[in-house]
Amino acid sequence: APRTLIAGNWKMNGLNAALAEVTALRDGLSAPNCDILLCPPATLIAAMAEVAGPIMVGGQDCHAAASGAHTGDIAAEMIADAGGAAVIVGHSERRTDHAETDAQVKAKAEAAHRAGLIAIVCVGETEAERDAGRALDVVLGQTAASMPDGATAENTVIAYEPVWAIGTGRTPTLDDIAEMHDALRAKTAELTGSDAMRLLYGGSMKPGNAAEILAIETVNGGLVGGASLKAADFGAIIAAA
Ligand code: 13P
Repeated sequence: APRTLIAGNWKMNGLNAALAEVTALRDGLSAPNCDILLCPPATLIAAMAEVAGPIMVGGQDCHAAASGAHTGDIAAEMIADAGGAAVIVGHSERRTDHAETDAQVKAKAEAAHRAGLIAIVCVGETEAERDAGRALDVVLGQTAASMPDGATAENTVIAYEPVWAIGTGRTPTLDDIAEMHDALRAKTAELTGSDAMRLLYGGSMKPGNAAEILAIETVNGGLVGGASLKAADFGAIIAAA
């Protein structure tokens, strides 16, 4: 099985003072059984990378271009230059707030690879889509259309995040997560020729539910929002991996 990846997405949270959580997390790690990644706001990537020790640091989005007239955007090369090792692309909040399409997400993931970063490509259905019985269709469709050319198990991770589970305290049943991840295992193998691409679950992952979700065979880690902000919570999830 691929090595488990526990990734944290700080979203638009965190000033310099929050780096104290990272040093506490780092100092509390004891031979973790997984890879660990934290994705702070872009303003903190460089400073976090300085103190993160074995914890990888990443961005939350990147532009597809390497440079140019794109006010407010950052390039994958800039994330790498700041000490980042990965970047999240296509998070549902980007897809919603910034109307990002699968084609744009794919281009961003390819930019990540160009810069030597791991691309963490997010997919997930809305509640209306799940209620309509379309969750598998929607998620597999997003996965196919967002998958970067040249994707391998080393340079690409898929994060399944049901939109209705993000920040709500609600999660799918373990059977529903397993059904989706089994389908993603087959789809990523078909698309890339590799059956070892890491498939993360995200959406209200907490210390209390992490162990049972991470025990699902086709779940290879987690993408954690709120519970990644505090060293105690994130450390407990890492310990459950
Ligand atoms: P929460 O863990 O806060 O539900 O957020 C999940 C998420 O969107 C991570 O990218």
